[in-house]
Amino acid sequence: MTHYTCTECGGESDQPGVCRDKDCLKRGQELTPCECTDGEHGADYEEDYYAR
Ligand SMILES: [Zn+2]
Ligand SMILES: [Zn+2]
Repeated sequence: MTHYTCTECGGESDQPGVCRDKDCLKRGQELTPCECTDGEHGADYEEDYYAR
């Protein structure tokens, strides 16, 4: 199931949105869609994603 994560703080949501962690550098920025099933969000990070 698709979920959404913040690549900065690791925050996670099951709905699209923005990071709400007040201490996060990416607060207010869109969460990244992720479809991992192992909870590791392995393909979340764009660098990794495009490297594959
Ligand atoms: Zn965050
Ligand atoms: Zn994930």
